[in-house]
This record gives sequence, structure tokens and C-alpha cells, in this order.
Amino acid sequence: MNTLQEIASCVSGYDPNALPVAQAQEFIARLVPRVDATESLPIRSALGRVLARDIVSGINVPAHDNSAMDGYALRGAELRADAQSTLTVIGTGFAGQQFSGPVPPGHCVRVMTGAVMPEGLDTVVPQEFVQVDRATITVPPAVVRTGDNRRLAGEDLAVGEAALRAGRLLRPADLGLLASLAQAEVPVLRRLRVAFFSTGDELRSIGEPLPEGCVYDSNRYTLWGMLQRLGVDLLDMGVVRDEPAALEAAFRHAAENADAVITSGGVSVGEADHTKQVMARLGDVLFWRIAMRPGRPMAIGRIQSGSHSAILFGLPGNPVAVMVTFYAFVRDALLAMSGSTPQPLPMLRAASEKALRKKPGRTEYQRGIVSRAADGSWQVAITGSQGSGILRSMSEANGLVVLHHAQGDVAAGDLVDVLPFDGLV
Ligand code: AMP
Ligand code: MG
Repeated sequence: MNTLQEIASCVSGYDPNALPVAQAQEFIARLVPRVDATESLPIRSALGRVLARDIVSGINVPAHDNSAMDGYALRGAELRADAQSTLTVIGTGFAGQQFSGPVPPGHCVRVMTGAVMPEGLDTVVPQEFVQVDRATITVPPAVVRTGDNRRLAGEDLAVGEAALRAGRLLRPADLGLLASLAQAEVPVLRRLRVAFFSTGDELRSIGEPLPEGCVYDSNRYTLWGMLQRLGVDLLDMGVVRDEPAALEAAFRHAAENADAVITSGGVSVGEADHTKQVMARLGDVLFWRIAMRPGRPMAIGRIQSGSHSAILFGLPGNPVAVMVTFYAFVRDALLAMSGSTPQPLPMLRAASEKALRKKPGRTEYQRGIVSRAADGSWQVAITGSQGSGILRSMSEANGLVVLHHAQGDVAAGDLVDVLPFDGLV
């Protein structure tokens, strides 16, 4: 395990007091370990889990050449290129009930979709192209080429081929693929366990009265929602008071029971509370100022309790900053820890409806509403107030406008990158 200093020395342009987003992401990617324990699950329970091993096909899928259409199977070479051809129908093949027996020259077999191709035949003419007259069919010239409308044995999966690779986050199509290989049990990595809590003496939980100067804790709910969608196991530790003993007990419990701990609040520069001191005392922790907006301060590192340790993500307290830093840093890190192969998030290019002010030298995440313009292209409008405490801007938005590090002001109509929320799982 590398120390944080060793990791920092591998990241070019590392400056903890003005860290570009890309460097922070690289640092985190080097820091986080991957779970390695596996378990075997019944196929349906494996949805959304990470495949632990390559799955190699033991059979050909499909097992035989078969018809892709309802029509007539024949020898392509027997069709005339310049005139109609007439063939005699010798029998019928159904899916699951094949025509067996020889097919002499000049003959064809009526086949349904999925029927095994009769011996010696290589082409299927769809039924809508032929004229049927009792036991003969007439095929016009040039409606098919040899090999058309025939599915080849093993074209979906061939024996010995890796059907799915380790590290894959299993989707519905993958369950279907596993089922077509008759894989009843699927080897997956164990789920990641993530503990999270809020810090701040002004925070109250739902159900408690709200004294003057206090706010209800919203971060625990946005975090819960984002973590839930990632499919990790959750340990919600509530609000922890700004008191060294309470904080220490909470961090120890998290380190003993989780792979990662996410906190919000208490990491700002000049923060008067004890969160930072306790973090630093219990582990190897860096306090960053990231060149981004919102979400500048962040703590990152490892928290220790005895022989247990957990990766710490100490997020800022402001409700919008929590979500933005989660999407910018924590999401990919947790997926990597879960063992899944990273997939870049899909970005839209959309025309900004208005001019935007942007200082080069930091990444800005503005909340936006993406829609279709009259000509079908994407456009984006920034939601009202962009203050980092205005959670409503996040709730109204359907995407984050990402204004990259080096970018300057944006003119109305310029294309910008947008991260659509619906792509975020
Ligand atoms: P901090 O990062 O602790 O300085 O907090 C920054 C701002 O975010 C303050 O206004 C806090 O009251 C607010 N805040 C911190 N944690 C939460 C939370 N869990 N829910 C709602 N607001 C919070
Ligand atoms: Mg605070």
C-alpha cells in the first residue's frame, strides 16, 4: 500500500492548495483498492453486480445454423440471376422440430424462424417474396443472395469465446447472455460497504425540533440516494456532533465496518470544529483545495482503527457541493473499489442559451436544464441561483454543465459539455 505522499509524487501538477479536478481524479484512482472477495449468486440476483471472472462459453449459441425468417430454405446456387426460379416444396421445418432427410436438387423446405437449416441448404427466401402454387414456389430473380436470412451456428457465442469479461457491471442483456449459456449461478464480487454521516452542530434530523440558527440535515438524504443508485451496501450513521470523542467513535466504527466512509461538512479552511483534527489523528489524510466550483475543500485518505482501514472522502458541507464532488470524484472511485471496469459517463454537447462567465483555471459545474431546440439539437439553460447552498438548483436541473479547467467565458450559442443526470447510475 502506497503512502499518500508516494501517490502524490506520481501525479504531475500536484498542488494540494489548488488541485485541478483531473489531478484529483488521478490521485483518487491510484489511492483506492478493489474488493476481491467473491460470492456465487443465482442469476437474477446478479443484476447490477460486478462479474468476478470471465465467463467462457461452453456451447455454440445458436447450436445449429437456423432460419432468420419465415420462408423457404433452398440452395442459393439454384436461383437464376436473370429469371424467376421454380422449386418443389418437399416438407416443413419448425423451430424445435426440424425437417430431416435429404433435399434433392430443384427442391426446397418451408421453414419458420428458428428452424434448423435442412442439410445442404444455405439460403432462406422470405415468404413474402414467393408465389405459392400447391407444392411449388416461384422466386423472382435477385430477391436474395446465397447465405441470406440464415443464422450461423455460434454467431452469437462460439465455444471457447469469452462471453463476458471480469469487471463487468451486469445489465439485463448480460443476464440474458448468461441464461443462453445455462449459467444458473454467477460468480460476482462482494458488494462494497459504504458508511456515511453528517457533521455540524447546527444540523438536526427529521423529526427533531429546529432551534434558531439550525438547519435540517439534507446531505445524508442526497448521499443516500446517490449511493443507493450505485448499488453499494449502506451504513447510515446519522448526524455526529462536533465533539472529539463522538467523532472519533464514529470514524472508528466506520473504519471497522466499511470499505469507505463519506462525511459532509467540517473540512473548510479555517473550520473551527474538530472534524479535521480527528480525521488527521486517526489516519493518513490530506486536506485539499480543489480548483473547482462549487466544492473547493475536500479531505481524502485512509482512516484507521486497529487493523481495519477505510478510504475517507471528507466532502464539503454545502448541499450542492456535496453532490457535485460526489459525481466528480466519489462515484467513479466507488465503482473502481467495487471492481467494475470504469465506463466514462456519457456527455451531451449542448448549445448554451445564454452567455456564461467562466474563469480559466478551475472547473465549474453549473446546474442546467437540457432540452431539444426546434431543429432537434440539444440546448441548455442554467437554472436560477447557482449558490452552492441552493439545493433547489440541483433539484430543478436535469444535468450538470461542465465548464472545463482551461475554458474561459462562454458566448450564447457556444457548445458546452453536459452530464445528464439520467445517465448517472
Ligand atoms: P461546512 O462545510 O461544515 O462549513 O458547511 C458549509 C455549509 O453547509 C453550512 O452552511 C452548513 O450549515 C451547511 N451544511 C453542512 N452540512 C449540512 C447538511 N448535512 N445538510 C444541510 N446543510 C449542511
Ligand atoms: Mg460545519
